[in-house]
Amino acid sequence: MPLVFIGPPGAGKGTQAKIVCARRGIPQISTGDMLRAAKAAGKLPGDLAAKMAMGALVPDEVVVGLIDERTRAADCRDGFLLDARALKLDHVVALEVPRELLIERAVLRRTDKRTGQIYHLKYSPPPPGADLDHRADDREDVVKGRLDTYEAMTAELLPYYESRSLLRRVNGVGTVEEVTARIFKVLGSNGGE
Ligand code: ADP
Repeated sequence: MPLVFIGPPGAGKGTQAKIVCARRGIPQISTGDMLRAAKAAGKLPGDLAAKMAMGALVPDEVVVGLIDERTRAADCRDGFLLDARALKLDHVVALEVPRELLIERAVLRRTDKRTGQIYHLKYSPPPPGADLDHRADDREDVVKGRLDTYEAMTAELLPYYESRSLLRRVNGVGTVEEVTARIFKVLGSNGGE
C-alpha cells in the first residue's frame, strides 16, 4: 500500500503519518526528515544546506536518490508511507488547511530533539523540561515563502493526481483525532487492521 501525504508546511502530515504507520505497522519515510538527517551528517551537496534554511526546494534528484535508497531496506517490503512525492502510488492524501492556520501551526511547531515527537506550543504543548528543536525554516517570514512555493509547485501536481483518481482530499482542520478518522475514512478502512 504505497501511500503519500501531500500538503503545505504545517498541514499535519508528520503528525498523521506517525499515527497511520503505527496502526498499519508500516514504516514512515519523511523526505524532510531524510534531508535534515543528511544535512546533519554533512552529506548534502554544495550549498544545499544553506538554501534549505531559507526555505528553498531541494532538487528532485537529491530527494529521489534518498527515497530510492531508503525504500530498498527490508522493512519497506510490505509497504511504506511517504510524506511528500513518489512514484507508483495507491493513494495521495491531500491535507487541506487554510493559510492563516498553517502559519500558526508551523511557527509554533517544536519537535523533541531525541524522540522526534512533534509538539505545538498552543495545540499540543510539550512536557516541561523537554529538549526542543525549533526548525530554522519555521520562522514566520520563511513559512510564508514556503507556502507560496508549495502553492506554485502543487498547481500542477494536484490536478495530475486527481486526473489519475489517486487524490483523496481531507479537511485538515480539527483535532488530530478528527483528522485521523477522516484519513482512514478516505482510505476505506477504520485503521484497526
Ligand atoms: P507537516 O508535517 O505537514 O509540516 P506537522 O505534522 O509537523 O505538519 O504539524 C505542524 C504543527 O501543527 C505541529 O506543531 C503539530 O503539533 C500541529 N498540528 C498537527 N495537526 C494538528 C491538528 N489537527 N490540530 C492542531 N495542531 C496540529
